[in-house]
Amino acid sequence: MSDREQTFVIVGAGLAGAKAAEALREAGFEGRVALIGEEAEHPYERPPLSKDYLRGEVEREKILVHDESFYRRHEIELILDQAAVGLDAERRELELAGGERLAFDRLLLATGASPRRLNVAGAELDGIHYLRDVGSSDAIHARLERGGKAVVIGAGWIGSEIAASARQLGVEVTVIESASVPLERVLGAEVGAVYRDLHLAHGVEMLLGTGVEAFEGSGAVERVRTSDGRTVECDFAVVGIGVSPRTELARAAGLAVDDGIVVDGSLQSSHPAIFAAGDVARQRHPTLGPLRVEHWANALHQGPVAARNMLGCGEPYDRVPYFFSDQYEVGMEYAGLARQWDRVVFRGKPDSHEFIAFWLREGRLLAGMNFNVWDVNEQIQELVAKRPPVEPAALEDPGVALGDLARNRA
Ligand code: FAD
Ligand code: NAP
Repeated sequence: MSDREQTFVIVGAGLAGAKAAEALREAGFEGRVALIGEEAEHPYERPPLSKDYLRGEVEREKILVHDESFYRRHEIELILDQAAVGLDAERRELELAGGERLAFDRLLLATGASPRRLNVAGAELDGIHYLRDVGSSDAIHARLERGGKAVVIGAGWIGSEIAASARQLGVEVTVIESASVPLERVLGAEVGAVYRDLHLAHGVEMLLGTGVEAFEGSGAVERVRTSDGRTVECDFAVVGIGVSPRTELARAAGLAVDDGIVVDGSLQSSHPAIFAAGDVARQRHPTLGPLRVEHWANALHQGPVAARNMLGCGEPYDRVPYFFSDQYEVGMEYAGLARQWDRVVFRGKPDSHEFIAFWLREGRLLAGMNFNVWDVNEQIQELVAKRPPVEPAALEDPGVALGDLARNRA
């Protein structure tokens, strides 16, 4: 069958989906491309939703992945405000909420993830927000504009960034987090403590090592009771306690699912015509093993690789995971993956707020993070990808070029 007679369908009009559609056209695919999104918005980027967009500093058009005319110009059929509700993998057919059935030759599932709910007493009260989409960012923005007191539950990425944005807008903030420092699971106790101190320095009250027992109030939330017996008064709350990959369609279609849609090194699912990319994909990474990454750069790069593999290119996805975060006056970039480590070394002093941290295990570098230090992350990525044996003393020494370490010349 010629290209022109084929239909490639992408479910999920987020970053991974929009970049995949773009890549299909860039690769010269001339068949039908349908990009299906349940949100009414054109595909947009989520990082600003907890940062400058949340604070009202950028316009909505600025967060779009492509300008609105892009899809028309590239003959990408954008079907918005319409969820895909059924998938028959054997018949290669997708069912949309409106009842339409779409036959496909190749399918990409780029359905992202949705916030985990905090199911405690009072969870149904008004004024308890979750942040995932532009509508929820608008609602939290409106609440922040009114001022008052916020309780933020969870000091992962969402909680940390919202706490910072809220303080930047002059809102009082109490953070409740079950771990002993913010971001502990990803960054560990030492680097997490840097973020704890940063929030404390900006006037955030940090209730660490505790959880939420109940929300209380009449109609709307007025206070939060913690599991260690404290009561925190508030005008509203924002919950950021992680996300679940949106695997419903894949599961119903009988694809392999295990905390994400299971895909191989080239992002192909257990069905040869179906691929997955972005937050929803659990990939057998060629060097790092089974891995699901919930970050922007992963969606940005996996979408196009999946698209090319839908065309039969057989391209492995082997990038080193990368993410960034901006909180207050501090920006950071992280490259690599450290799940278990035996040592963290610093180039620069953590309390100086300009440093690079490295996570090591048995003398091998697993990950590195530059914190208010710029133009070094590419070298960190190169170093992490090559995983040469490195001397901690060389990592600590600002006189040793990271590029030389990657090339084993230090
Ligand atoms: P998504 O962006 O979730 O897009 C999936 C889309 O699919 C959604 O629009 C969804 O509605 C749609 N969909 C799902 N199911 C269906 C269906 N059945 N039918 C039709 N459509 C469907 N990462 C960083 O690295 N740095 C950051 O600073 C950062 N900040 C963030 C801030 C916020 C507030 C959030 C929420 C995330 C942030 N991230 C950040 C993470 C990053 O945005 C995500 O990793 C990225 O959006 C994942 O892209 P995706 O395309 O896989 O999924
Ligand atoms: P997250 O980064 O997984 O963090 C969730 C945090 O909540 C963790 O610290 C977790 O602790 C804690 N927690 C879990 N249950 C809790 C409870 N009942 N009470 C108090 N704390 C609890 O998820 P997120 O912050 O909700 O972010 C959602 C998604 O957006 C993620 O995919 C994230 O990667 C993405 N995002 C990324 C960025 C960025 O990269 N800069 C920014 C914003 C959002 P434990 O770890 O101990 O369970």
